[in-house]
Amino acid sequence: MSWSEDGTTDLPRLPSPLHELPDERLERHGVHLQLKRDDLINPEIPGNKWRKLRYNLQTAQEQGCTRLLTFGGAYSNHIRATAAAGRRWGFDTVGVIRGEEHKPLNDSLAYAAECGMTLTYLDRTTYRRKTEPDVLAALARQFGPYYVLPEGGSNGLAVRGTAELVDEITTEFDVICCATGTGGTLAGIASGLSGPQRALSFAVLKGAQFLEEEVRRLQREAYGTATTNWTVDLGFHFGGYAKRNTVLDDFVIDFTERHGVTLDWVYEAKMMYGIFARTEAGDFPPGTRIIAVLS
Ligand SMILES: *Cc1c(COP(=O)(O)O)cnc(C)c1O
Repeated sequence: MSWSEDGTTDLPRLPSPLHELPDERLERHGVHLQLKRDDLINPEIPGNKWRKLRYNLQTAQEQGCTRLLTFGGAYSNHIRATAAAGRRWGFDTVGVIRGEEHKPLNDSLAYAAECGMTLTYLDRTTYRRKTEPDVLAALARQFGPYYVLPEGGSNGLAVRGTAELVDEITTEFDVICCATGTGGTLAGIASGLSGPQRALSFAVLKGAQFLEEEVRRLQREAYGTATTNWTVDLGFHFGGYAKRNTVLDDFVIDFTERHGVTLDWVYEAKMMYGIFARTEAGDFPPGTRIIAVLS
């Protein structure tokens, strides 16, 4: 794709680096951990958000679409990333936000608006029907023709983009872990694995049983077939999306002190807590080599 140069955002830099994470709490159990630092590839369009957008932007451009429309909650990282990508590569962007408008805008939405994104709001009942033709048609009447990115940016093209993360890893490993919201990242990572390698995801939403079917659906959309080499752990949501408690907060503070890495508490902290808890519980046989993705 030919990227227009407006100088506001540097191009995301791939491959993302892989860092050793020596930690006695893992070493005691013979577990070896490395971090895939997808969070470092770009400050405005971090890791998995860029991987999920990449082929969608290319397809939108090939179809001659100049406007991206997408969905999210008021704190959605995907909304932010889409706004930044739109500004960077010259698309108009419309963000359809769940619930009512609150002024002043929170930091995420203020940033999106500053990138030029048009924000519009759907009440929760209509938002639930956001993939239905009448809702999509009404949005087209209001904003003009658009290329639609689903909530969280997860679709078949996004899965193909995130699968490439695995190709970048040149060291051997047994398990790759990620935090899961909508499932696109997990679907791609699992599709990219080979042999006995497995993907283990930690759901950050409460009641995320829907992921079992959704991840399979996304893999089929991307490749026509689903894999069985992945598991979703539903036990570490800490009360639900963007919920936290002092146990999680203390874990994040301690982790920063030990390793100089501050975990994003909505996603990565829950995954990392889960990895350490499962290690402590003896879930990983000694010798297990884990890669944890920070997005
Ligand atoms: C969006 C996001 C995820 C979840 O990705 P899904 O593909 O929606 O499962 C994980 N970590 C971070 C930091 C994210 O922004």
